[in-house]
Amino acid sequence: FSTNNVNSNVLTCDSGDVDLPDSTIPEFILPKLEEYHKYTASECATTGRKYTFGQVRKKCKNLNKAIRHIFKLQKGDVVAILLPNCPEFAISALGILEAGLVLTTLNPIYTPDEISKQLIDSSAKVLITQVQGVNNAKAAVQLTQKHIPIIAIKRLQNDSIPEGVIDFEELVNNNDISISDADHVKSSDLAFLPYSSGTTGLPKGVELTHHNIISNLCEISHKDYNYFDPPTDSSQDVTAAVLPYYHIYGFCLSLLNMAYNGAKTVTIEKFTPEVYLSVLQKHPLSIIYVAPPLVLFFISHPHVKAEHFDHLKVLTSGAAPLGHSDEERFIKKLGRETNICQGYGLTETSPILTYSPKGTKRTEHSSGSVGKVVPNTLIKIVSPDDPTGTPLGPNEKGELLTKGPQVMGGYHKREEESKNAFLDGWFRTGDIGYYNEQKQVFITDRIKELIKVKGYQVAPAELEAVIRDHPSIEDAAVIGIPHSKYGEVPRAYIVPKKDVTLDIEDLKKYVAVKVAPYKQLQGGVQILENIPKNPSGKILRRQLKMGFEKNGV
Ligand code: AMP
Repeated sequence: FSTNNVNSNVLTCDSGDVDLPDSTIPEFILPKLEEYHKYTASECATTGRKYTFGQVRKKCKNLNKAIRHIFKLQKGDVVAILLPNCPEFAISALGILEAGLVLTTLNPIYTPDEISKQLIDSSAKVLITQVQGVNNAKAAVQLTQKHIPIIAIKRLQNDSIPEGVIDFEELVNNNDISISDADHVKSSDLAFLPYSSGTTGLPKGVELTHHNIISNLCEISHKDYNYFDPPTDSSQDVTAAVLPYYHIYGFCLSLLNMAYNGAKTVTIEKFTPEVYLSVLQKHPLSIIYVAPPLVLFFISHPHVKAEHFDHLKVLTSGAAPLGHSDEERFIKKLGRETNICQGYGLTETSPILTYSPKGTKRTEHSSGSVGKVVPNTLIKIVSPDDPTGTPLGPNEKGELLTKGPQVMGGYHKREEESKNAFLDGWFRTGDIGYYNEQKQVFITDRIKELIKVKGYQVAPAELEAVIRDHPSIEDAAVIGIPHSKYGEVPRAYIVPKKDVTLDIEDLKKYVAVKVAPYKQLQGGVQILENIPKNPSGKILRRQLKMGFEKNGV
């Protein structure tokens, strides 16, 4: 794969490409933990428990051995992590990978229904959670009707490990297990299986190899994109991990990238203004990764002060668009210029496709741009109805397609969906955008079904299936509608069964117990006589969206 000699309407990186090593994630990251062993790796914002890189390294090794020894796991077996952001997330993830196993991550606020679906689909063999998550985990495992052992992490020293659950601490502190090294893992082997609904349908396992993830780490480590300085005895970069580690953005940028660069991470289990404020007051944050709602919090919270950002080198916003006026208001609050970067990517692209290179000016012209294509990566814009995939020129809007070593191979056990995700080897993002004469990329719309609430994925097909299961419902469709605080929220259109009286509040409650809070029907429920569909039965979501935009129904 080369980015040379491509059509002039195909975007390549101005900074050129980087050399990509043929390494696995452990081969790439673990030596860095050894190099930076004496510095703090991470610290929990609420409980203060913390680990040095050296401690993380040792505990990974012990977990790697114990997990293979106790559960007889083989190369390629999947282990699930159901955790909020916490210092033990890195130990769990790197330990699993060092053991030659595959990692799948789940949102800790998922309901047992949601957890069990992913455990079954990914064929997870073991589940790691926190003591506080054990009841949820047990209920989910019961729904799978499989034997999936649960390992629990103590949040506080006096937490007790529930019956029938294995103590994480005993595994990571056991130096005495002798077992041969894990089977050899190649960089082309599967490493990470996060879930995404892609352009259509239910959440699917995104197959990311070690090479996919390492490639993206190397691409964004190019000197034109990288703001880290290696740690010394007098200084260390500090970041707060508020973006969830279970999502690719948090996992790669706030977990792997921090470890790779020897930066300290303050982990935030659950965002509240009080917790983030205490982090700002206690820790000299130098590198901040956020989604746009957090920038609004920085701007508008009266107790967030300019001096909290005295050490800030760069603020990166991604996962959803950050408006130009919000950038300006943040700079005004700071009272000085700073680097503000926007990034864009997907779970399927490990995740970064575009990023603001150093020196990007916040001019009117570039405002709202998600940056430029990163090294080793190609982007083209094509008309969504053009089967030839001919690249459009500057300022022409169309679907964004990409090629690069960070792009997934396909969806787990979904041949048809994997095939449909590509057009002649180009991955279809389902996003609409354009680029300007300076090759800056802009995302303007989405043609895929996906709804993003506070940056989290909500798959309409998943909610529709839940609603259709309600005994009084004949048919249902779900779309996203704009929301001033959350970006978008789900709105349902339903057709009740004949001769039943449906209580909408009752339906909302029914949905509420089945899915996580951010997936709930905050955009309202509208009764229809039938759901608009095309002749092959596909829901015409655009039509529903346009109806809502025009008439509010
Ligand atoms: P996910 O796989 O959860 O990371 O979701 C990927 C989707 O989030 C993309 O396809 C876009 O629709 C959206 N997205 C990610 N970053 C941005 C951004 N900077 N601006 C606008 N939309 C974004």
